[in-house]
Amino acid sequence: MPMPPEFDVGFGPSNLALAIAVAEYNETAAEPVAVRFLERQPRFGWHRGMLLADATMQVSFLKDLVTMRNPVSRFSFLCYLHERGRLVDFVNHKTFFPLRVEFHDYLEWAAAKVAGQVGYGREAISVRSDGEWFEVRTADGEVCRARNLVLGTGLRPKLPEGALPSERVWHNSELLHRVGSIRAPRRCVVVGAGQSAAESAAFLHDRFPEAEVCAVFSRYGYSPSDDSSFANRIFDPDGVDAYYSAPESVKQRLMNYHGSTNYSAVDIELIDDLYRRSYREKVQGRERLRIFNVSRLADVFEDEKVRVAVESSATGEKTVLDADLLVYATGYRPADPTGLLGALGGHCRRDEHGRLRVERDYRLVAPDLPGAIYLQGGTEHTHGITSSLLSNTAVRAGEILASVLDRRPAAEWAPEYAAKELA
Ligand SMILES: Cc1cc2nc3c(=O)[nH]c(=O)nc-3n(C[C@H](O)[C@H](O)[C@H](O)COP(=O)(O)OP(=O)(O)OC[C@H]3O[C@@H](n4cnc5c(N)ncnc54)[C@H](O)[C@@H]3O)c2cc1C
Repeated sequence: MPMPPEFDVGFGPSNLALAIAVAEYNETAAEPVAVRFLERQPRFGWHRGMLLADATMQVSFLKDLVTMRNPVSRFSFLCYLHERGRLVDFVNHKTFFPLRVEFHDYLEWAAAKVAGQVGYGREAISVRSDGEWFEVRTADGEVCRARNLVLGTGLRPKLPEGALPSERVWHNSELLHRVGSIRAPRRCVVVGAGQSAAESAAFLHDRFPEAEVCAVFSRYGYSPSDDSSFANRIFDPDGVDAYYSAPESVKQRLMNYHGSTNYSAVDIELIDDLYRRSYREKVQGRERLRIFNVSRLADVFEDEKVRVAVESSATGEKTVLDADLLVYATGYRPADPTGLLGALGGHCRRDEHGRLRVERDYRLVAPDLPGAIYLQGGTEHTHGITSSLLSNTAVRAGEILASVLDRRPAAEWAPEYAAKELA
């Protein structure tokens, strides 16, 4: 019987980078790697709900799907620009940070080149072992046998405890999907002080020129993200090595020092833009952008409107706002892989804090399982802040492929299977 392929769950940028690494390897390999991807979305999509027209990337275009691993790859952002006829225009633009919509187009362009390996509209719902291989069951009832697994299932929107989503109460991840259903609002409330919160506030302020936009957060002001050169080195491949080998107390310290490279932090240009709007409105005498800082939502009640009680944490004073829309820009958490693994999760070793133990090559420590389970994402506690970001995606994909190859018994590959799968 032919060997089953590697199965990769999720086809966001992380597993797309892996698909490309495999495709490049197979171009010259005597023993190609057979790989299949399951993606629950009907087509490729990267945070479509936040593809705001003006939003830019938070990472250099050189940290695309490939360049940090293979600078001469034909899957690079520069090759994409060249193919689209925009290379010269982009160079003249003098920026490292393309528009998010443009980067999305790049990701779609790259995804189309490896589409033969991807099953779209196919959600993995459980994984079990038949003793020899993994069996991945999909929502449409199919069972796919797999030699190893790579779980790249990304982030899940996080709402505050007790928050009740509704027609007018959403997480920001749904912003563009649902904003069309809101007609002529008089007031929108945005909760949160991170990049998505600031982007949502600016977007609603533009989109509804008659509406008041109230930004509610516990900080004193939006804080800038630290993208200075030395701090940025935390995203380097060497930064991952250093983090991985550091004792727990040092890991904690590094996260405290450098969390502001990513978390609860906003691009300085956007902070300046919001401040400019706020000041301009003060001068004009009509303040549409209202900042409720050092504040929290004390209560939310919904009837024809969403009634929001905002409490100042400094004075305890409450302001009741009748709103047409409440957007929680309260962050994301990594998908928990053990949900998918069911009983197999019990075979995965955990550390003294109950967190999954992960090898440097992103493999779960689970020696009793029939193959390896790699994580793309959800490894912040072991590999540091790049875990959920794009910065190290290209290199991580290469490391996972190298590990799969290293662990493959030389005699066991099945050329006829590989040739069929990748044709
Ligand atoms: C609005 C926004 C902007 C961002 N911008 C940046 C940025 O500029 N720079 C940066 O470094 N990071 C950024 N990030 C961080 C983000 O996590 C990464 O950009 C990137 O999405 C990580 O890719 P991924 O493939 O690991 O996860 P995801 O992009 O979340 O992809 C996971 C995929 O898995 C699929 N999936 C999940 N469960 C299953 C299942 N059971 N079966 C089948 N498929 C499944 C999902 O549908 C999804 O397509 C941003 C995040 C957000 C929310």
